[in-house]
Amino acid sequence: MEQRGFVFHEQNLLSPDAAVATFLRRAPLAPPGVERVALDEALGRVLAQRAQADADYPDAPRSAMDGWAIQSSQTPGRFAILGEVTMGDVWSGRVDPGQAVRIPTGGVVPDGCDAVVPVEDAQLQGTSVLIPMPVAAAENVTPRASDMHAGDLVLEAGTRIGAAHLGVLATLDITDVTVFRRPLFAVLSSGDELIAPGDRPQPGKIRDSNRYAIAGALRAMGAQVRHWPTVSDRPGALEAALREALAACDGAIVSGGSSVGERDHTPGAMAALGEPGVIVHGLRVKPGKPTVLAALGARPVIGLPGNPASALMILEAVLAPVIAAIVGAPCRPGVTAARLSAPMTSRRGWTWYLPVRLEDERGSFVAHPIPLRSSSVSLAARADGFVVMPEAAEKWDAGRNVTVTHFL
Ligand code: AMP
Ligand code: MG
Repeated sequence: MEQRGFVFHEQNLLSPDAAVATFLRRAPLAPPGVERVALDEALGRVLAQRAQADADYPDAPRSAMDGWAIQSSQTPGRFAILGEVTMGDVWSGRVDPGQAVRIPTGGVVPDGCDAVVPVEDAQLQGTSVLIPMPVAAAENVTPRASDMHAGDLVLEAGTRIGAAHLGVLATLDITDVTVFRRPLFAVLSSGDELIAPGDRPQPGKIRDSNRYAIAGALRAMGAQVRHWPTVSDRPGALEAALREALAACDGAIVSGGSSVGERDHTPGAMAALGEPGVIVHGLRVKPGKPTVLAALGARPVIGLPGNPASALMILEAVLAPVIAAIVGAPCRPGVTAARLSAPMTSRRGWTWYLPVRLEDERGSFVAHPIPLRSSSVSLAARADGFVVMPEAAEKWDAGRNVTVTHFL
């Protein structure tokens, strides 16, 4: 296919944010259905159901201390010891004013008692216990339903399930969890110079690094990955590969060939796929200008720059919200607040992603700018993440407080 139709008109290029917004308007993405998984398999998945409290938690007032359950109105005073609450059981019968029952942490507070006095604040004297200080009602008692009320909405659909959520789901007896299916993305590399790791590089060849970095980022965001064979720069090859990939997958990520050169077949191949086709080609961003956002129906087809550092930063900074829409939950890379160790410069009117290395200086972080070379593979390993300089910025001084977005 002839590529001469593609040129970048700088004044028309969209900022990354505007590009994503335009893309999501034109290609309404949604997760590819739901499935049920066992609770133990649910870590990292995205909830497709609400989790509601099926009962009050706790279902009865419980002791927050190891101590004596008593009637607070009788304090200070001496109490006759009646017995002991057994963990996992409830005290049968009532406790009269002037009587005390030994109670462990978490034990159900017996009827007739409204407070618990910690053992260390009481004096055991034979068959009675002396509480020397006045005690307020409800002291050291966790009231019924103070954690959750029956019917409370505890977790919303769209929650990415973390370790703490697993505990909540278990408590609510949700052991079969309805989650969004993970979208399956085809990962394609394009370029006649690419060889696979394991192959011996001949002069002019380089190892395909992008597919592994891209696959890792996709998995970290909650997608599944199917590696597609490397596509040659022959006209028509990428279009054919994309048609196959999109017949089998929920979307595709291509790296390389995304610019406007004669051997750059990505935009043309994406345009030929069908509606809505190419939605955005070229971003007002550095690095990563040659990025293509396209779709076939509701399946995103994204072309990333071939340069490894650009591909990685664009995938995380620009594509995370796109991936989020099809995964069903926000993909939020970690961020660290840091102080710049050296000035940073960009070009006014353009968004810049500038790589930095973080140094921990006794709990506060310093961000050391790393010269951006988008062709560098090792840069992404030497950097911890990047700082976004917005369009309005041009120069940031050393000492400025910045937010560093971590690589996934
Ligand atoms: P392109 O975007 O195809 O013009 O490629 C830009 C640069 O990135 C070229 O130097 C390519 O060799 C390099 N490149 C393209 N794809 C990959 C890849 N999958 N892994 C590593 N480098 C790549
Ligand atoms: Mg190429």
